[in-house]
Amino acid sequence: MRAERRSLPIADADEDWRWQLKNAVRTLEDLKARLALSPAEREATRRLLEAGGLPLTITPHFLSLIDPSDPDDPLRRQVVPSELEGVPDPWGRRDPLGEEDHEAAPNLVHRYPDRVLLLVTDRCASYCRFCTRKRLVGQGPTPRLAELEEALGYVARHEEIKEVIVSGGDALMLSDEKLDRLLARIREIPHVEIIRLATRMLAFAPMRVTEGLLDVIAAHHPVYVLSHFNHPRELDDNAKAAVLRLTGAGVPVLNQTVLLKGINDDEACLTELFRTLTRLRARPYYLHQCDLAPGTAGFRVPLERAMEIVGNLRGRLSGLSMPQLVIDIPGGLGKVPMFPSPVTREDDEGVELRGFSGRTARYPKR
Ligand SMILES: *Cc1c(COP(=O)(O)O)cnc(C)c1O
Ligand code: SF4
Repeated sequence: MRAERRSLPIADADEDWRWQLKNAVRTLEDLKARLALSPAEREATRRLLEAGGLPLTITPHFLSLIDPSDPDDPLRRQVVPSELEGVPDPWGRRDPLGEEDHEAAPNLVHRYPDRVLLLVTDRCASYCRFCTRKRLVGQGPTPRLAELEEALGYVARHEEIKEVIVSGGDALMLSDEKLDRLLARIREIPHVEIIRLATRMLAFAPMRVTEGLLDVIAAHHPVYVLSHFNHPRELDDNAKAAVLRLTGAGVPVLNQTVLLKGINDDEACLTELFRTLTRLRARPYYLHQCDLAPGTAGFRVPLERAMEIVGNLRGRLSGLSMPQLVIDIPGGLGKVPMFPSPVTREDDEGVELRGFSGRTARYPKR
């Protein structure tokens, strides 16, 4: 922990994250120059770039965390196109969460009564090959603030909406100035209590967390940041510093992780990830079973194994570090938590419950 605190100072200029975006790898040629690609990766990249759709983009920062000598590097497999995306996927759906059917206004998804999802940009600093919104992410045009007015008007007319989740793409792809104007505009709506910013920037370009950004967030509290880390190696000193800057400034950070086959579907790996986040005062919030976006069959962990992992972590990992495994039900029916049932037997009088060690005991129903 002391080492983590010492590594706190990071470069604090807007140019640093802009530099990451400007110098991101976006072509097969650039990628080949940085990583020795297998023939399958080369072929998959060429084919996917030709087909359009989710672009290839990887920041120099994220690339630097990839072990170039390991073809199965868990970070590499998240961002480098591969044969995984070509695994036949009969369950794949263009819009797995039915977001288009629940669109209350352009760029606004209203699924639950009290909260809405506002898609403010289609851009990310790098693109995850398993992205649930691969139908639109990175394919522009990014809405201008004026084009979000209809969505904001809808929020203003619906007093039951207490929370606005600013997402995309990546909410922190907006400049400080644009983010400030957007958050100020949301804050004009008196019944909106909570703003949530969804971002994977802390992994892709952690230098995004500048003093300027902290000032913008502080001006519009309560603002929660929803980060996205999938593997402990994404939390290098820069990313740790970025999380600590937020939590140290009093910004609550919640983390979501996508469960990914061959990448993090392993108890030891997830334990390390969740413990590291907890030490940085970021709370593991959701562990997502992969959504059914097209071409994600190769990334999906069998549900039975996902439940086993959660069963094995429960009780062994502090409740502070234990996220909820959720499935976002296809078609937009919302997220449901999934866990192995602790009920091993049931009668009129009571239930038999199994604890984390495997031992059971009865508890009365009334
Ligand atoms: C995930 C999601 C939310 C937020 O759900 P929480 O359980 O509150 O994190 C809200 N709206 C939509 C459309 C979502 O997909
Ligand atoms: S950061 Fe999020 S929105 Fe962007 S590509 Fe990855 S999963 Fe999709």
